[in-house]
Amino acid sequence: MNAIGENIILLKQEIPAGVKLVAVSKTKPVGDILEAYNAGQRIFGENRAGEMLLKKDLLPDDIEWHMIGHLQTNKVKSIVSFVNLIHSVDSFRLLKTINDEALKIRRVVDCLLQFHIATEETKFGFSIDEAMEMIGSEEFSKFESVRICGVMGMATFTEDNSLVRNEFHALASHFRMLKESYFANIPGFREISMGMSDDFRTAIEEGSSMVRIGSLIFGERK
Ligand SMILES: *Cc1c(COP(=O)(O)O)cnc(C)c1O
Repeated sequence: MNAIGENIILLKQEIPAGVKLVAVSKTKPVGDILEAYNAGQRIFGENRAGEMLLKKDLLPDDIEWHMIGHLQTNKVKSIVSFVNLIHSVDSFRLLKTINDEALKIRRVVDCLLQFHIATEETKFGFSIDEAMEMIGSEEFSKFESVRICGVMGMATFTEDNSLVRNEFHALASHFRMLKESYFANIPGFREISMGMSDDFRTAIEEGSSMVRIGSLIFGERK
């Protein structure tokens, strides 16, 4: 087996059952994705709508495509028919656009709410107060074509593991808060998407249900 396939097998051995592996294939060619696919990987994450659309047409139909990057509202239409999970819902406006576009084609699209947990200003996402305000709103209660399945977050890019751990811990608390307040009877609200190549072990210890791993599988990106 090739290196990419071996990386998949090793990661799957390490990651506990119940934690899903999203192979982040952004910037990588379809040949690399096929190598991972042939080792059994079915969930792939991309951060650009255009790139996801191009790759999807060249690859097997049983791949689950996850959008993990900041999504502009004008790109929603291009992926709404096939995307399996949008991790990066970071505004009411984006959620409304996904709902409207999904409704037109009679689909229900699974989404995660992205939280801003890092110290960097550049990372997108809700605060817990913003998310609670949105979820409690009347407009939100009328959305029928999106299903909120949990939360997502990115930790600060740092060597300081205790900071990263605290941020993941905060995200897991946000998840529990929302679960208790709004989604207690909704079994589909169950995902905590956190953890990348450098911090996935910490994320799993803090309760991650979905890790998004790129460079450890496919090698460094340029
Ligand atoms: C690129 C990216 C990843 C994967 O990063 P690696 O460090 O290569 O594992 C995970 N999540 C998001 C949102 C990303 O943009």
